Amino acid sequence: MGFTRVLIANRGEIALRILRALRDMGIEVAIIHGREDRLSLPVRMADIAYPIMRSNPLDSYLDIEAVVQAAKDLNCDAVHPGYGFLAENANFVKRLQEEGIIFIGPSADVITLLGDKIEARAAMESAGLPTAKGSSEPISEASKASKLADEIGYPVIIKAAAGGGGIGMQIVHAEHEFESALKLCQSRAKSAFGDDRVFVEKYIEGAQHVEFQVLADGTNAIHFGERFCSIQRRHQKLVEEGPWLSEEKRDEIGSLVCAGAESVGYKGLATFEFLRDKNGDFYFLEVNPRVQVEHTVTELITGHNLVELGIRVAQGESLPLSQEEISWRGHAIQCRLNAEDPRNFVPSPGRLWECHFPSGFGIRCDTHAHPGYEMPGCFDSLLAKLLTWGATREDAIARMRTALDETILTGVEHLIPLHRRIMDEKDFLNREITIQYIEQHEELLG
Ligand code: ADP
Repeated sequence: MGFTRVLIANRGEIALRILRALRDMGIEVAIIHGREDRLSLPVRMADIAYPIMRSNPLDSYLDIEAVVQAAKDLNCDAVHPGYGFLAENANFVKRLQEEGIIFIGPSADVITLLGDKIEARAAMESAGLPTAKGSSEPISEASKASKLADEIGYPVIIKAAAGGGGIGMQIVHAEHEFESALKLCQSRAKSAFGDDRVFVEKYIEGAQHVEFQVLADGTNAIHFGERFCSIQRRHQKLVEEGPWLSEEKRDEIGSLVCAGAESVGYKGLATFEFLRDKNGDFYFLEVNPRVQVEHTVTELITGHNLVELGIRVAQGESLPLSQEEISWRGHAIQCRLNAEDPRNFVPSPGRLWECHFPSGFGIRCDTHAHPGYEMPGCFDSLLAKLLTWGATREDAIARMRTALDETILTGVEHLIPLHRRIMDEKDFLNREITIQYIEQHEELLG
């Protein structure tokens, strides 16, 4: 069944990205919005806009019953959640299902399974994916934790089972640190996720973040290769690029992630995140069961429209292409142009007086920004995603320098000065990058 009308339950650049894919496919676009976004580009461009005004702006996008009601009132066949907000909320998926509305993403059961890091680890381990050594069940006593650490070796990391956004994680180097680290992680997990279960795993030193893009139809899965996303601040990505691995390694990890997705009956787009240690060994971290901010990098190097493919499998189509039909060409880099102070990453909301984004050969810019746009302070600070493509990594970097220099943004602080310095930094140019990159290059913060 092809969709006639789809509701976008999101805002900002990803709402615009989804709107464009729906339009290309001849599907009518409906969108919800709060007060701050009533004049935003995706709201103005949608066929139908449905206000959900709340005193807390986040509630406009988080009120499950209001969003379900919007989808019903507007006769939508399906809802696209984008990323964040309700994208990983199993109750939302269940409510839509009860109303006969399709959720563009995996089933509620799969979201519940993958949202629990202990369960997800176990499921992926049995599908054959490599995971870091660690506990296969929650740990609440320091004595048990230290016994395990003796077996697997220090340092270890304590993480929340329900975790997200790096919240609560504690690194432990010696036995005497366990008591307080365990309590701290449990209490942070309890207040952030309402679930104080924590587990212990080997801390991977000098790690790189490598992730695989997957698409599955509930039975079969294919992968679109990897993205390298080690340049992060507070565990959030700033620069993403690809490809990064040798063909052999891509084939090896690619087959494993497809087996992992198939083993849980996954449907839709997914990202399998890994840490890669100094020896090049991979350790599964988690699955993000939704479209990812950096899917754009993969679109540039594979030439496939991932958002459209995600919508097509939600319509009930089987995978429209085989693994052999996916190939990689050249290199792509994405810089997240956040409205933040480039020295300390403090958000910088405000009105954009001037706003010019680059274009030309090998350049893509996904943004909802325009001159006069009022960047709200209550949402994520992502203002634009600037991407360049080149035949080689060097070409893509050279083009990114040109593109960053051409971008004009006045009215808010932004990360362009930081990105511009990274593009000239020696370790970045030599691909010597770990997840500690920003901490180890404080001079870049200006
Ligand atoms: P979250 O869901 O909270 O983002 P993840 O498990 O995806 O948590 O981990 C986020 C980040 O935390 C990783 O990118 C990495 O920087 C760090 N991290 C998590 N687990 C480990 C580990 N075992 N060893 C080293 N760093 C880790």
